[in-house]
Amino acid sequence: MTERRRPAGAHRVVFHSDMNAFYASVEQADRPELRGRPLVVGGHEELRHGIVLAKSAEAKAAGVKTGEALWEARAKCPGLVVVTPRYGLYQKYSLLARRIYYQYTDLVEPFGLDEAWLDLTGSLRLVGAGALETAAEISERMKAELGCTVSIGISWNKIFAKFGSDYRKPDAITAITPENYRDLVWSAPAGELLYVGRATRKKLHSSGIDTIGDIARASPELLQRRLGKMGGVLRAFARGEDETPVKPYDAARNEVDHTIKSYGNGLTAPHDIATPEDAKALIYLLSESVAQRLREGRVRASTIAIGVRSADDLVSYSRQTTLARATNVTGRIARTAWELLEANEPLDETRPLRGLHVRASGLEPMDAPQQLELALDPRLHMLEDLDETIDDLRRRFGNTCVQRGAELLDESLLDLDIKRDNVIHPVGYF
Ligand SMILES: [Mg+2]
Repeated sequence: MTERRRPAGAHRVVFHSDMNAFYASVEQADRPELRGRPLVVGGHEELRHGIVLAKSAEAKAAGVKTGEALWEARAKCPGLVVVTPRYGLYQKYSLLARRIYYQYTDLVEPFGLDEAWLDLTGSLRLVGAGALETAAEISERMKAELGCTVSIGISWNKIFAKFGSDYRKPDAITAITPENYRDLVWSAPAGELLYVGRATRKKLHSSGIDTIGDIARASPELLQRRLGKMGGVLRAFARGEDETPVKPYDAARNEVDHTIKSYGNGLTAPHDIATPEDAKALIYLLSESVAQRLREGRVRASTIAIGVRSADDLVSYSRQTTLARATNVTGRIARTAWELLEANEPLDETRPLRGLHVRASGLEPMDAPQQLELALDPRLHMLEDLDETIDDLRRRFGNTCVQRGAELLDESLLDLDIKRDNVIHPVGYF
Protein backbone atom coordinates (compact mmCIF):
# COMPACT_ATOMS: atom_id res chain seq x y z
CA MET A 1 0.00 0.00 0.00
CA THR A 2 1.37 3.37 -0.90
CA GLU A 3 1.28 5.79 1.95
CA ARG A 4 0.25 9.27 0.86
CA ARG A 5 2.38 11.98 2.33
CA ARG A 6 0.58 13.47 5.31
CA PRO A 7 0.19 17.22 5.13
CA ALA A 8 2.65 19.24 7.18
CA GLY A 9 1.66 19.71 10.79
CA ALA A 10 -0.99 16.99 10.52
CA HIS A 11 -0.39 15.95 14.10
CA ARG A 12 -2.12 19.06 15.47
CA VAL A 13 -5.69 19.08 16.79
CA VAL A 14 -7.36 22.42 16.08
CA PHE A 15 -11.01 23.25 16.74
CA HIS A 16 -12.95 26.15 15.31
CA SER A 17 -16.07 26.81 17.33
CA ASP A 18 -18.80 29.06 15.96
CA MET A 19 -21.85 30.06 18.00
CA ASN A 20 -24.88 29.77 15.73
CA ALA A 21 -27.16 32.76 15.00
CA PHE A 22 -25.24 34.39 17.81
CA TYR A 23 -27.10 37.62 18.61
CA ALA A 24 -30.56 36.13 18.23
CA SER A 25 -29.57 33.03 20.25
CA VAL A 26 -28.25 35.18 23.06
CA GLU A 27 -31.50 37.14 23.20
CA GLN A 28 -33.44 33.88 23.39
CA ALA A 29 -31.09 32.46 26.00
CA ASP A 30 -31.41 35.59 28.10
CA ARG A 31 -35.21 35.78 27.78
CA PRO A 32 -36.60 32.24 27.98
CA GLU A 33 -40.08 33.42 26.98
CA LEU A 34 -38.66 34.16 23.52
CA ARG A 35 -37.24 30.67 22.93
CA GLY A 36 -38.76 28.89 19.98
CA ARG A 37 -40.29 32.10 18.63
CA PRO A 38 -39.28 33.85 15.42
CA LEU A 39 -37.13 36.74 16.54
CA VAL A 40 -35.00 39.41 14.94
CA VAL A 41 -32.56 41.84 16.43
CA GLY A 42 -33.38 45.07 14.66
CA GLY A 43 -33.07 48.81 14.59
CA HIS A 44 -35.08 50.89 16.97
CA GLU A 45 -38.75 50.08 16.67
CA GLU A 46 -39.79 53.67 16.34
CA LEU A 47 -37.69 54.16 13.22
CA ARG A 48 -39.97 53.56 10.30
CA HIS A 49 -37.12 52.22 8.22
CA GLY A 50 -35.44 49.98 10.78
CA ILE A 51 -33.71 46.91 9.34
CA VAL A 52 -33.09 43.32 10.40
CA LEU A 53 -29.63 43.08 11.95
CA ALA A 54 -29.79 39.40 12.99
CA LYS A 55 -32.37 36.62 12.99
CA SER A 56 -33.22 33.49 14.95
CA ALA A 57 -33.45 30.07 13.32
CA GLU A 58 -37.26 30.36 13.47
CA ALA A 59 -37.25 33.70 11.65
CA LYS A 60 -34.81 32.34 9.11
CA ALA A 61 -37.15 29.42 8.44
CA ALA A 62 -39.88 31.95 7.67
CA GLY A 63 -37.66 33.52 5.01
CA VAL A 64 -36.53 36.59 6.97
CA LYS A 65 -33.23 37.97 5.66
CA THR A 66 -30.53 40.00 7.32
CA GLY A 67 -30.55 43.59 6.08
CA GLU A 68 -34.18 43.73 4.98
CA ALA A 69 -36.67 46.25 6.33
CA LEU A 70 -38.49 45.33 9.52
CA TRP A 71 -41.85 45.85 7.84
CA GLU A 72 -40.90 43.37 5.14
CA ALA A 73 -39.79 40.86 7.73
CA ARG A 74 -43.07 41.30 9.60
CA ALA A 75 -45.06 40.78 6.42
CA LYS A 76 -43.27 37.47 5.83
CA CYS A 77 -43.49 36.32 9.39
CA PRO A 78 -46.56 37.20 11.44
CA GLY A 79 -45.84 37.19 15.16
CA LEU A 80 -42.22 38.18 14.60
CA VAL A 81 -40.59 39.49 17.77
CA VAL A 82 -38.31 42.49 17.24
CA VAL A 83 -35.75 43.29 19.91
CA THR A 84 -33.26 46.14 20.09
CA PRO A 85 -29.62 45.05 20.11
CA ARG A 86 -27.88 44.80 23.48
CA TYR A 87 -24.21 44.81 22.68
CA GLY A 88 -23.09 44.40 26.26
CA LEU A 89 -25.08 41.21 26.59
CA TYR A 90 -23.43 39.74 23.49
CA GLN A 91 -20.01 40.60 24.91
CA LYS A 92 -20.95 38.84 28.12
CA TYR A 93 -21.98 35.64 26.36
CA SER A 94 -18.86 35.79 24.22
CA LEU A 95 -16.77 35.79 27.37
CA LEU A 96 -18.78 33.06 29.01
CA ALA A 97 -18.10 30.93 25.94
CA ARG A 98 -14.38 31.66 26.13
CA ARG A 99 -14.37 30.66 29.79
CA ILE A 100 -15.67 27.25 28.80
CA TYR A 101 -13.00 26.95 26.08
CA TYR A 102 -10.28 27.87 28.57
CA GLN A 103 -11.20 24.85 30.63
CA TYR A 104 -9.94 22.68 27.77
CA THR A 105 -6.86 24.62 26.64
CA ASP A 106 -5.05 27.95 27.15
CA LEU A 107 -4.60 28.20 23.42
CA VAL A 108 -7.78 30.03 22.50
CA GLU A 109 -7.76 32.58 19.69
CA PRO A 110 -10.97 34.57 19.46
CA PHE A 111 -12.19 35.49 16.00
CA GLY A 112 -14.80 38.10 16.66
CA LEU A 113 -17.41 37.66 19.36
CA ASP A 114 -18.90 34.36 18.34
CA GLU A 115 -15.97 32.37 16.96
CA ALA A 116 -12.71 31.02 18.31
CA TRP A 117 -9.95 28.63 17.40
CA LEU A 118 -8.73 26.22 20.07
CA ASP A 119 -5.53 24.22 19.89
CA LEU A 120 -6.11 20.98 21.77
CA THR A 121 -3.00 19.10 20.68
CA GLY A 122 -1.37 19.19 24.10
CA SER A 123 -4.49 18.89 26.22
CA LEU A 124 -5.86 15.86 24.42
CA ARG A 125 -2.57 14.10 24.88
CA LEU A 126 -2.71 14.89 28.59
CA VAL A 127 -6.33 14.04 29.13
CA GLY A 128 -6.32 11.10 26.77
CA ALA A 129 -9.73 11.98 25.40
CA GLY A 130 -10.61 11.87 21.74
CA ALA A 131 -11.14 15.01 19.71
CA LEU A 132 -14.72 14.14 18.78
CA GLU A 133 -15.70 13.38 22.38
CA THR A 134 -14.16 16.63 23.56
CA ALA A 135 -15.96 18.62 20.86
CA ALA A 136 -19.23 16.93 21.82
CA GLU A 137 -18.65 17.81 25.47
CA ILE A 138 -17.93 21.47 24.66
CA SER A 139 -21.02 21.58 22.49
CA GLU A 140 -23.22 20.11 25.25
CA ARG A 141 -21.84 22.54 27.80
CA MET A 142 -22.48 25.53 25.56
CA LYS A 143 -26.07 24.36 25.21
CA ALA A 144 -26.59 23.61 28.91
CA GLU A 145 -24.69 26.56 30.42
CA LEU A 146 -25.25 29.28 27.81
CA GLY A 147 -28.32 28.14 25.92
CA CYS A 148 -26.50 28.53 22.60
CA THR A 149 -25.71 25.91 19.98
CA VAL A 150 -22.33 25.80 18.28
CA SER A 151 -20.94 24.24 15.17
CA ILE A 152 -17.42 22.91 15.64
CA GLY A 153 -14.89 22.08 12.96
CA ILE A 154 -11.96 19.83 13.83
CA SER A 155 -8.81 19.58 11.76
CA TRP A 156 -5.04 19.75 11.89
CA ASN A 157 -5.00 23.38 10.76
CA LYS A 158 -6.98 26.55 11.36
CA ILE A 159 -8.21 26.99 7.80
CA PHE A 160 -9.78 23.52 7.58
CA ALA A 161 -11.15 23.75 11.13
CA LYS A 162 -12.92 26.95 10.11
CA PHE A 163 -14.20 25.23 6.99
CA GLY A 164 -15.50 22.38 9.15
CA SER A 165 -17.49 24.69 11.42
CA ASP A 166 -19.20 26.17 8.36
CA TYR A 167 -19.70 22.83 6.65
CA ARG A 168 -22.63 21.72 8.77
CA LYS A 169 -24.61 23.99 11.08
CA PRO A 170 -26.30 24.62 13.41
CA ASP A 171 -25.38 22.30 16.26
CA ALA A 172 -22.95 20.07 14.39
CA ILE A 173 -19.42 18.69 14.59
CA THR A 174 -17.39 18.08 11.44
CA ALA A 175 -13.91 16.62 11.35
CA ILE A 176 -11.77 17.41 8.32
CA THR A 177 -9.11 14.70 8.29
CA PRO A 178 -6.12 13.90 6.06
CA GLU A 179 -8.32 11.09 4.72
CA ASN A 180 -11.45 13.08 3.86
CA TYR A 181 -10.33 16.61 3.03
CA ARG A 182 -10.13 15.97 -0.70
CA ASP A 183 -13.76 14.90 -0.72
CA LEU A 184 -15.15 17.50 1.68
CA VAL A 185 -13.02 20.57 1.11
CA TRP A 186 -11.87 20.32 -2.46
CA SER A 187 -15.35 20.05 -3.96
CA ALA A 188 -16.48 23.29 -2.27
CA PRO A 189 -16.57 26.63 -4.12
CA ALA A 190 -13.34 28.65 -3.92
CA GLY A 191 -15.13 31.40 -1.98
CA GLU A 192 -15.58 29.07 0.99
CA LEU A 193 -11.87 29.04 1.69
CA LEU A 194 -11.08 31.56 4.40
CA TYR A 195 -9.54 34.73 2.96
CA VAL A 196 -10.94 34.20 -0.53
CA GLY A 197 -13.17 37.26 -0.93
CA ARG A 198 -15.19 38.59 -3.81
CA ALA A 199 -12.34 40.17 -5.75
CA THR A 200 -10.11 37.10 -5.43
CA ARG A 201 -12.97 34.83 -6.44
CA LYS A 202 -13.48 36.82 -9.64
CA LYS A 203 -9.80 36.67 -10.55
CA LEU A 204 -9.68 32.94 -9.90
CA HIS A 205 -12.84 32.36 -11.91
CA SER A 206 -11.37 34.12 -14.91
CA SER A 207 -8.55 31.55 -14.83
CA GLY A 208 -11.03 28.68 -14.67
CA ILE A 209 -10.48 28.12 -10.95
CA ASP A 210 -13.82 27.65 -9.22
CA THR A 211 -13.37 25.15 -6.41
CA ILE A 212 -10.96 24.87 -3.51
CA GLY A 213 -9.62 21.74 -5.22
CA ASP A 214 -8.89 23.83 -8.33
CA ILE A 215 -6.78 26.15 -6.15
CA ALA A 216 -4.96 23.19 -4.60
CA ARG A 217 -4.17 21.69 -7.99
CA ALA A 218 -3.34 24.92 -9.84
CA SER A 219 0.25 25.56 -10.74
CA PRO A 220 2.03 27.86 -8.30
CA GLU A 221 3.15 30.00 -11.26
CA LEU A 222 -0.40 30.60 -12.45
CA LEU A 223 -1.59 31.56 -8.96
CA GLN A 224 1.41 33.79 -8.45
CA ARG A 225 0.66 35.54 -11.75
CA ARG A 226 -3.01 36.06 -10.92
CA LEU A 227 -2.77 36.88 -7.20
CA GLY A 228 0.84 37.66 -6.40
CA LYS A 229 2.21 36.38 -3.12
CA MET A 230 -1.30 35.67 -1.91
CA GLY A 231 -1.65 33.01 -4.61
CA GLY A 232 0.98 30.80 -3.03
CA VAL A 233 -0.49 31.20 0.42
CA LEU A 234 -4.00 30.32 -0.73
CA ARG A 235 -2.65 27.27 -2.55
CA ALA A 236 -0.98 26.11 0.66
CA PHE A 237 -4.21 26.72 2.60
CA ALA A 238 -6.21 24.72 0.04
CA ARG A 239 -3.74 21.84 0.41
CA GLY A 240 -4.00 21.81 4.18
CA GLU A 241 -0.50 23.18 4.56
CA ASP A 242 -1.49 26.01 6.89
CA GLU A 243 0.80 25.89 9.88
CA THR A 244 -0.22 29.16 11.52
CA PRO A 245 -0.40 28.64 15.26
CA VAL A 246 -3.50 29.28 17.33
CA LYS A 247 -2.43 32.49 18.97
CA PRO A 248 -3.75 33.00 22.47
CA TYR A 249 -4.82 36.54 23.13
CA ASP A 250 -2.68 37.96 25.86
CA ALA A 251 -3.24 41.59 26.72
CA ALA A 252 -0.05 41.76 28.72
CA ARG A 253 2.21 40.62 25.93
CA ASN A 254 1.41 43.44 23.56
CA GLU A 255 2.32 41.37 20.58
CA VAL A 256 1.63 42.73 17.14
CA ASP A 257 1.11 40.53 14.14
CA HIS A 258 2.81 42.39 11.34
CA THR A 259 1.30 40.23 8.64
CA ILE A 260 -2.03 41.93 9.27
CA LYS A 261 -2.23 45.30 7.58
CA SER A 262 -5.80 46.27 8.21
CA TYR A 263 -9.08 45.16 9.72
CA GLY A 264 -12.30 45.59 7.84
CA ASN A 265 -15.89 44.57 7.96
CA GLY A 266 -18.66 45.11 5.49
CA LEU A 267 -22.21 44.25 4.70
CA THR A 268 -24.12 43.84 1.51
CA ALA A 269 -27.80 44.23 2.31
CA PRO A 270 -30.44 42.38 0.30
CA HIS A 271 -32.41 45.64 0.19
CA ASP A 272 -31.69 49.31 -0.09
CA ILE A 273 -30.22 51.31 2.72
CA ALA A 274 -31.95 54.58 2.04
CA THR A 275 -32.05 56.53 5.29
CA PRO A 276 -29.34 58.13 7.39
CA GLU A 277 -30.60 56.18 10.42
CA ASP A 278 -30.05 52.80 8.76
CA ALA A 279 -26.69 53.82 7.35
CA LYS A 280 -25.66 55.09 10.76
CA ALA A 281 -26.76 51.87 12.46
CA LEU A 282 -24.70 49.84 10.01
CA ILE A 283 -21.64 52.05 10.35
CA TYR A 284 -21.75 51.70 14.10
CA LEU A 285 -22.01 47.97 14.18
CA LEU A 286 -19.32 47.50 11.56
CA SER A 287 -17.07 49.89 13.49
CA GLU A 288 -17.64 48.06 16.73
CA SER A 289 -16.39 44.77 15.33
CA VAL A 290 -13.42 46.48 13.66
CA ALA A 291 -12.52 48.27 16.91
CA GLN A 292 -12.75 45.09 18.92
CA ARG A 293 -10.39 43.33 16.51
CA LEU A 294 -7.94 46.19 16.80
CA ARG A 295 -8.02 45.93 20.57
CA GLU A 296 -7.63 42.16 20.47
CA GLY A 297 -4.68 42.61 18.12
CA ARG A 298 -3.21 45.21 20.52
CA VAL A 299 -3.03 47.84 17.78
CA ARG A 300 -4.45 51.24 16.92
CA ALA A 301 -5.28 52.43 13.42
CA SER A 302 -4.52 55.83 11.97
CA THR A 303 -6.43 55.49 8.70
CA ILE A 304 -10.16 54.92 8.54
CA ALA A 305 -11.81 54.11 5.22
CA ILE A 306 -15.32 53.44 4.06
CA GLY A 307 -16.36 51.50 0.98
CA VAL A 308 -19.71 52.22 -0.57
CA ARG A 309 -21.71 50.31 -3.15
CA SER A 310 -24.84 51.84 -4.62
CA ALA A 311 -28.05 49.84 -5.04
CA ASP A 312 -27.78 49.77 -8.82
CA ASP A 313 -24.31 48.28 -8.35
CA LEU A 314 -22.91 50.74 -10.87
CA VAL A 315 -21.09 52.97 -8.47
CA SER A 316 -18.61 51.63 -6.01
CA TYR A 317 -15.88 53.64 -4.36
CA SER A 318 -13.98 54.14 -1.19
CA ARG A 319 -12.90 57.18 0.75
CA GLN A 320 -10.40 57.39 3.52
CA THR A 321 -9.03 59.80 6.01
CA THR A 322 -6.03 59.88 8.29
CA LEU A 323 -6.51 60.70 11.93
CA ALA A 324 -4.22 62.96 13.87
CA ARG A 325 -3.90 60.15 16.36
CA ALA A 326 -4.28 56.43 15.91
CA THR A 327 -7.23 54.92 17.72
CA ASN A 328 -9.07 51.72 18.56
CA VAL A 329 -12.00 53.45 20.20
CA THR A 330 -15.31 52.29 18.79
CA GLY A 331 -17.03 55.66 18.95
CA ARG A 332 -14.17 57.46 17.28
CA ILE A 333 -13.89 55.00 14.39
CA ALA A 334 -17.66 55.05 13.90
CA ARG A 335 -17.82 58.84 13.97
CA THR A 336 -14.99 59.14 11.44
CA ALA A 337 -16.60 56.60 9.11
CA TRP A 338 -19.94 58.35 9.42
CA GLU A 339 -18.40 61.73 8.59
CA LEU A 340 -16.79 60.22 5.49
CA LEU A 341 -20.10 58.81 4.37
CA GLU A 342 -22.04 61.97 5.09
CA ALA A 343 -19.54 64.06 3.15
CA ASN A 344 -19.81 61.82 0.08
CA GLU A 345 -23.39 60.57 -0.10
CA PRO A 346 -26.74 62.29 -0.38
CA LEU A 347 -28.23 59.51 1.82
CA ASP A 348 -31.72 59.85 0.50
CA GLU A 349 -33.95 57.98 -1.91
CA THR A 350 -32.11 59.36 -4.94
CA ARG A 351 -29.19 56.99 -4.53
CA PRO A 352 -29.88 54.19 -2.10
CA LEU A 353 -26.96 52.13 -0.94
CA ARG A 354 -26.63 48.39 -0.99
CA GLY A 355 -23.25 47.84 0.56
CA LEU A 356 -21.11 49.49 3.22
CA HIS A 357 -17.62 48.65 4.41
CA VAL A 358 -15.52 50.06 7.23
CA ARG A 359 -11.80 49.50 7.27
CA ALA A 360 -9.02 50.51 9.64
CA SER A 361 -5.41 50.52 8.49
CA GLY A 362 -2.13 52.24 9.29
CA LEU A 363 -1.74 49.97 12.28
CA GLU A 364 0.63 50.67 15.10
CA PRO A 365 1.26 48.79 18.34
CA MET A 366 -0.60 50.05 21.38
CA ASP A 367 2.64 50.78 23.13
CA ALA A 368 3.85 53.11 20.35
CA PRO A 369 4.75 56.54 21.63
CA GLN A 370 2.04 59.14 21.21
CA GLN A 371 2.28 62.71 20.13
CA LEU A 372 2.38 65.10 23.02
CA GLU A 373 -0.71 67.17 22.39
CA LEU A 374 -2.74 64.05 21.93
CA ALA A 375 -1.32 62.37 24.93
CA LEU A 376 -2.64 65.38 26.78
CA ASP A 377 -6.18 65.17 25.46
CA PRO A 378 -8.03 63.84 28.48
CA ARG A 379 -11.23 63.04 26.61
CA LEU A 380 -9.58 60.70 24.12
CA HIS A 381 -7.73 58.99 26.90
CA MET A 382 -10.90 58.54 28.78
CA LEU A 383 -12.63 56.89 25.84
CA GLU A 384 -9.75 54.57 25.12
CA ASP A 385 -9.36 53.68 28.75
CA LEU A 386 -13.05 53.02 28.92
CA ASP A 387 -13.04 50.60 25.98
CA GLU A 388 -9.98 48.86 27.32
CA THR A 389 -11.25 48.65 30.83
CA ILE A 390 -14.52 47.18 29.66
CA ASP A 391 -12.68 44.63 27.52
CA ASP A 392 -10.47 43.72 30.41
CA LEU A 393 -13.19 43.44 33.02
CA ARG A 394 -15.25 41.30 30.71
CA ARG A 395 -12.30 39.09 29.96
CA ARG A 396 -11.59 38.51 33.60
CA PHE A 397 -15.01 38.62 35.19
CA GLY A 398 -17.29 37.51 32.41
CA ASN A 399 -20.18 36.58 34.64
CA THR A 400 -20.37 39.86 36.49
CA CYS A 401 -19.29 41.88 33.56
CA VAL A 402 -20.06 45.50 32.96
CA GLN A 403 -22.53 46.58 30.36
CA ARG A 404 -21.95 49.65 28.34
CA GLY A 405 -24.39 52.24 29.61
CA ALA A 406 -26.56 53.67 26.88
CA GLU A 407 -25.59 57.10 28.13
CA LEU A 408 -21.92 56.44 27.41
CA LEU A 409 -21.86 54.99 23.95
CA ASP A 410 -25.43 54.98 22.87
CA GLU A 411 -24.97 54.15 19.25
CA SER A 412 -22.50 51.34 19.76
CA LEU A 413 -25.30 49.24 21.21
CA LEU A 414 -25.92 47.86 17.78
CA ASP A 415 -24.67 44.67 16.39
CA LEU A 416 -25.37 42.24 13.65
CA ASP A 417 -24.84 38.71 12.55
CA ILE A 418 -23.50 39.24 9.10
CA LYS A 419 -21.26 36.26 8.95
CA ARG A 420 -22.70 34.28 6.09
CA ASP A 421 -22.64 37.15 3.63
CA ASN A 422 -19.56 38.74 5.02
CA VAL A 423 -17.00 36.66 6.78
CA ILE A 424 -15.36 39.05 9.18
CA HIS A 425 -11.65 38.73 8.88
CA PRO A 426 -8.53 40.77 8.80
CA VAL A 427 -8.10 42.01 5.28
CA GLY A 428 -4.69 42.59 3.76
CA TYR A 429 -3.67 39.47 5.58
CA PHE A 430 -0.78 38.87 3.24
MG1 LIG B 1 -21.71 32.46 14.39
